[in-house]
Amino acid sequence: MAFDIEKIRNDFPILQRRVHNKPFVYFDNAATTQKPLRVIERMDKIYLETNSNIHRGIHYLSDVSTRQFEEARETVRKFINAGNDHEVIFTSGTTAGINMVAFSYGEKYVSEGDEIIISSLEHHSNIVPWQMLCERKGASLKVIPINDYGELLIDEYEKLFSSKTRIVALTHVANSTGTKNPVKKMIGTAHRNGVPVLVDGAQAVQHGKVDVQELDADFYVFSGHKMYGPTGTGVVYGKESILEEIPPWQTGGEMVDQVTFGKTTFNRLPFKFEAGTPNYTGVIGLAAAIQYIEETGLNDIASYEKELLDYGNKRLSEIDGLNLFWEAENKISIFSFILEGIHPYDAGMIIDKYGIAVRTGNHCAQPFMERFGIGGTIRASLVFYNTCEEIDRLCEAIEKVKEMFS
Ligand code: PMP
Repeated sequence: MAFDIEKIRNDFPILQRRVHNKPFVYFDNAATTQKPLRVIERMDKIYLETNSNIHRGIHYLSDVSTRQFEEARETVRKFINAGNDHEVIFTSGTTAGINMVAFSYGEKYVSEGDEIIISSLEHHSNIVPWQMLCERKGASLKVIPINDYGELLIDEYEKLFSSKTRIVALTHVANSTGTKNPVKKMIGTAHRNGVPVLVDGAQAVQHGKVDVQELDADFYVFSGHKMYGPTGTGVVYGKESILEEIPPWQTGGEMVDQVTFGKTTFNRLPFKFEAGTPNYTGVIGLAAAIQYIEETGLNDIASYEKELLDYGNKRLSEIDGLNLFWEAENKISIFSFILEGIHPYDAGMIIDKYGIAVRTGNHCAQPFMERFGIGGTIRASLVFYNTCEEIDRLCEAIEKVKEMFS
């Protein structure tokens, strides 16, 4: 094993608790991850010692707070290898980030008759903002189809481009299946057609190194809470050349330069896109989460999670009556399955009684589930603080579910 799993588990206090009087197994990491003590303590320290609103303050604590906030921006910049700090915009999460881009980019560049490409693997938050934009502008959505393994059909993708295509919005890793899309190649195709790409990285940045310059992504969006950081934090990376051109989304304080009742001019990047008081406590907590990930090592995290994936695939496929969906060749440690004759919700409720948290339902991907003619699945999403023993516990619980329904 590449790293010390005992030590890692001890870094996450919540993993030590019991649920229904059983040791707690947390397999709902695609919904949100648990937080290492370091992140919790970092945020406590702010409220105990340095809390003050940021920017333009002339007093000591405001200065400390501003510095910590801007250092966090630099931590994020390095983490995703953005070229400039001002290409990193803080938001409240992926949903807010995609809405921001759909609105701002759409306002400037999308008009009647235009087309937007998304994929069949998208989370609702990378569907609905584009759909609403299409409704506002009289544009239309084109959807990249998938095969039975939950992999995008790249040849079909290439055929979707036309002179009217304005943007591609694509998930890096799908939350319903764990499929990792070949985003670099797909960005290349879009760019050859003169079209920019937004990548939804909500399920990607915590599982392996993302380099936005190497990918050549025009926008890259993610959430803090899915990468061991606080809720209510997120990032939009955007290329400076595009961010300069598009209008702000939300308006108010912070994002302005001069305000008169006749006209307002906007602040420079990134502040033009950060209206109001940002979640500076959360952002500083997010930087602590990134430092934790980096110290643990993204390569070690990825190879340990691959071990979990292989072990889970082997164990779950040994269970009679369990249908494991979407064994894409390139994927992260997410297992989506159904038990023959048992509703996922009923199964999930019983699994919970064994102290194991899984998620059941459509995973905010209704059009995707429809494509396969199912209402939903049971999803176990694992990360580097999970273990093979926990997978064994899940398998035992599944056998109990089957017994109860037999
Ligand atoms: N995209 C993907 C791929 C996701 O998994 C999620 C969360 N499940 C989101 C977007 C939305 O993220 P948030 O709820 O943090 O805004």
